[in-house]
Amino acid sequence: MSQSAQVPNQGNPEGHQSRQFTTRCRPEGHQWASDRCIFCGLPKSSLMLTFSIPLLPPSVNHYVSHGTKTDRRSGARTAIHKKTPEAKAWERDFPLFSRGQFITSQNGRFAVTLIFTPGPKDSGDIDNRNKCTLDCIAKAGMLRNGKGEEMSDAWIKRLLVEIRDSQEDRERGPKTEITIEALG
Ligand SMILES: [Zn+2]
Repeated sequence: MSQSAQVPNQGNPEGHQSRQFTTRCRPEGHQWASDRCIFCGLPKSSLMLTFSIPLLPPSVNHYVSHGTKTDRRSGARTAIHKKTPEAKAWERDFPLFSRGQFITSQNGRFAVTLIFTPGPKDSGDIDNRNKCTLDCIAKAGMLRNGKGEEMSDAWIKRLLVEIRDSQEDRERGPKTEITIEALG
């Protein structure tokens, strides 16, 4: 077999036509029809990823514990914030599930959807589990710009959070489903 015959066509049924599409999309993001954006034509799989973690992130209330530390030389006592064991466990396990995946946004703007399913005894607060999750997404290098640089969570420009906490949902929890989308 010749060298060129082994080059895959990247599964693109339109072949060279895809080169006519621009890689930038509208500021508000891509619009999907089946598995392609109707505006820029790029495949959904390159611009959006979803994965889930069978854990809930620590809520902000439990993210840090408070204490004091004493400066050895001056004897001055200052307040410190220490991450809780739950927060450390979440941060340690997150990369096992994100598995080195990342999304490239040409202008470095991202949208994130978080769906939290608490376990039977977890709190169902909607607003205090986001921070730790967005931190981990950025630290795992999941957000890249057009130059391949890793972006901070400041580049997440749209966030949708849902709590699925009905009785039946809770019996399937805890679970966190994360979707990251390039916004153009
Ligand atoms: Zn698009």
